Amino acid sequence: MAKLRLETLRKEFDRGQIVAVDDLSLDIEDGEFVTLVGPSGCGKTTTLRMIAGLESATSGHIYIGDEDVTDVHAKNRDVAMVFQNYALYPHKTVEENMGFGLRMSTDLSKEERHERVYEAAEMMGIEDLLSDKPDELSGGQKQRVALGRAIVREPDIFLFDEPLSNLDAKLRTTMRTEIQRIQQELGITSVYVTHDQEEAMTMGDRIVILRDGELQQMGAPTDVYDRPTNRFVGGFIGSPSMNFIDVDATREGGTVVLTDRDGSFSCRLPSSFADRIRDVDGAFTVGIRPEDIFPASERDENVLTTTVEVVEPIGSDNYLYLDAAEDFIARVDSDVEPEPGETIRVTFAEDDVHVFDGESGGVIR
Ligand code: ATP
Repeated sequence: MAKLRLETLRKEFDRGQIVAVDDLSLDIEDGEFVTLVGPSGCGKTTTLRMIAGLESATSGHIYIGDEDVTDVHAKNRDVAMVFQNYALYPHKTVEENMGFGLRMSTDLSKEERHERVYEAAEMMGIEDLLSDKPDELSGGQKQRVALGRAIVREPDIFLFDEPLSNLDAKLRTTMRTEIQRIQQELGITSVYVTHDQEEAMTMGDRIVILRDGELQQMGAPTDVYDRPTNRFVGGFIGSPSMNFIDVDATREGGTVVLTDRDGSFSCRLPSSFADRIRDVDGAFTVGIRPEDIFPASERDENVLTTTVEVVEPIGSDNYLYLDAAEDFIARVDSDVEPEPGETIRVTFAEDDVHVFDGESGGVIR
């Protein structure tokens, strides 16, 4: 077990034309499970491959424990990687697949290797499949073998590259729990790449959000959800996405009132917010999550008055698609059932209003 540290890690391709990873610095604690998430092409896989030693870094450093492994060959790094496509040898049995790494990297006897493989297979619930070949297995079983093979190595670090993408939704949920259970049981520092923000949120002790090779935010899932550092993170984390409205600001006494161009949105924020903005003439974007929106009463002052376009029942709740900004969705109780075309007023708690700089997208509140 070991902590993992990336220090201004950079990867350029095509003689610097493509910056896949842009001076990324991360500190991952011993035994921590960190998920790496972001849109396609943001540099997740490249980061993981550099940690594994499958890709060289253009600059920066990688430390496993106290050792700088930046220039250490992949086979001499104590990491085990699990891939999306399982990467099993088709002509070898499950036992041979799982034991192969051990045979290459340790001087364990055949019996000792068998014991280690059997233990890992038991952990993954595949001890009855040891003499099968990969093409006799289902996708879920193949991924269990791939996980078992990683466990057998008893590495310092586990690296997962979208390991569940090829599985159906139900199996994916089961395997998420399995991976978390094993990781906790073994306490092995893990980095898990996914493009699925829900997977990242449910699995990670902490979550790292990347965009264009750059770190956007690192934090516990609830931190990132409650306090996104910029508009991109606000929009990326959470489903359906955070709603955004461009607004103007006016000072009124100690408060600031935010309104959109056509006056359908209005929200008063207290002096603590007013103190934080220097210039009300700037451009602002308000962000409000669908689940933070409620039908308004007469007394509510923070309101959006708008037309209902579509009502979509999802069982426990209804999604209301509202005619505001580009897309605006409210997640309300299932007994709130306005007619399409109806004008409604919705409200939101002042604490649930995120305000971003309209230009840089950085959070102001
Ligand atoms: P995805 O979710 O689609 O797998 P990702 O976040 O894992 O994406 P990377 O695969 O790390 O992203 O790619 C980051 C950027 O680097 C992309 O612009 C990609 O096209 C580029 N890239 C990756 N590998 C190479 C390569 N070998 N040669 C040139 N460009 C590359």
